[in-house]
Amino acid sequence: MGNLIDDGHAVMKKILLVEDNRFFGAMLIRKFAKESDLEIVWAQSLSESRDILASGEHVFFAAILDFNLPDAPRGEVIVEVIAHSIPVLVFTASSDAVVRDKVWSYNVVDYVFKDDAQSLEYLIYLIRRLEKNQQTKVMVVDDSSFFRKVLVDLLETHQFQVLSASDGKAALALFEEHPDIKLVLTDFEMPELTGLELTRKLRQRYRRDELVIIGISAAGDQMVAASFIKNGANDFIVKQTFMTEEFYSRITQNIENVERAQMILEMSIKDHLTGLYNRRYLFEAGIQFFDRARRQKTTIVCAMLDIDHFKRVNDNYGHDVGDLVLRRLGEVLQDNFRTTDIVARFGGEEFCVLAVDLDESGAVKLFERLREKVKHQTFTTAKGENLSVTISIGICTELKDNLEQMIKTADERLYEAKEGGRNRVVAE
Ligand code: GH3
Ligand code: MG
Ligand code: MG
Ligand code: MG
Repeated sequence: MGNLIDDGHAVMKKILLVEDNRFFGAMLIRKFAKESDLEIVWAQSLSESRDILASGEHVFFAAILDFNLPDAPRGEVIVEVIAHSIPVLVFTASSDAVVRDKVWSYNVVDYVFKDDAQSLEYLIYLIRRLEKNQQTKVMVVDDSSFFRKVLVDLLETHQFQVLSASDGKAALALFEEHPDIKLVLTDFEMPELTGLELTRKLRQRYRRDELVIIGISAAGDQMVAASFIKNGANDFIVKQTFMTEEFYSRITQNIENVERAQMILEMSIKDHLTGLYNRRYLFEAGIQFFDRARRQKTTIVCAMLDIDHFKRVNDNYGHDVGDLVLRRLGEVLQDNFRTTDIVARFGGEEFCVLAVDLDESGAVKLFERLREKVKHQTFTTAKGENLSVTISIGICTELKDNLEQMIKTADERLYEAKEGGRNRVVAE
């Protein structure tokens, strides 16, 4: 049987569940069906899980394994699943310290107690965390190749994209290629550039809520830990004594802080409905646009776009369909401009585009094409009704003193386009 990923369809992510308790198994499957888009493949014993893995029929994103199975009472299933390079979450009723240590001696993602009421929530949270980690770049900087590997392995188990460097200078060079690294774990003593120097240099470019820096200090050296924090690190880890569980907790907590800060930032500059920039960001970015255009002697085009008779869409199809049209139109606009241009939702059904390096005739052609494209776009409602809308556009291509003045001119032309019969572009 072929690998499901090969047949070209978008494949639902799968989780291997090995659990002999029918009650827990059924509960978990219900929970995942309701709250995730993951499919669970359920085996009730070690031997059944072997058959499933050997068949090659499934590609597993992660596995949830019961520590105690009738044919594998001491976690034997863990080693076998890890051998297939599948991230493993262990689920068990035992809170025995010996069992716990044994579980952590394998490269598992985490260890969850069955009798905890929150455990199912926690499993879902962990799986989501792993999905996010797959999109997250982290870097390990250590001159000891042994310890570097220990840290890389730990982070890879949690599915991070892991880069590594053997000194601070090499780390900075890697940052040039990967400016989207979200976390750096750095040793203290290293040739070329020490961990403290690296921390200071990275902090000149990235704030604490943009990039997590965690210093690694040797046991008993509290001065190093304090220096790391004073020089800009978010946290530190003691080298000889850390426990895997503590290590992961610190990594996750720090990553989530950065993600939260990013989300707040996004929310403050983007429009909730369309995901386009909001009016506030447009004016902030407008200042930079004008500075750059003056410095580089390039042009700026400002366009105001408004949907024609949009009130009728709401009246005829309902507000939800109106929202759908706004969202789709937002996508069309986004697709038609460069990432260096700014596409913003100005208000209700009105949008503003700021584009660079366009002369007047280029701008007219571009917006004419856009107007035509929107006119031919069909929007399909949840009920299967088809509708379309047209847009009117006013453009200002003369470089004025500031954004407000360009918007005012574009808006006057938009008004002319409406007066002239709508579904048209006015540029002078
Ligand atoms: P015109 O061609 O002159 O622009 O006519 P119009 O109907 O598009 O303009 P008007 O300003 O009279 O109405 C705009 C409508 O847009 C009224 C308002 O309810 C609707 N609208 C504004 N924001 C939203 C939104 O977020 N969702 C939905 N569904 N409708 C919105
Ligand atoms: Mg069991
Ligand atoms: Mg309108
Ligand atoms: Mg309007």
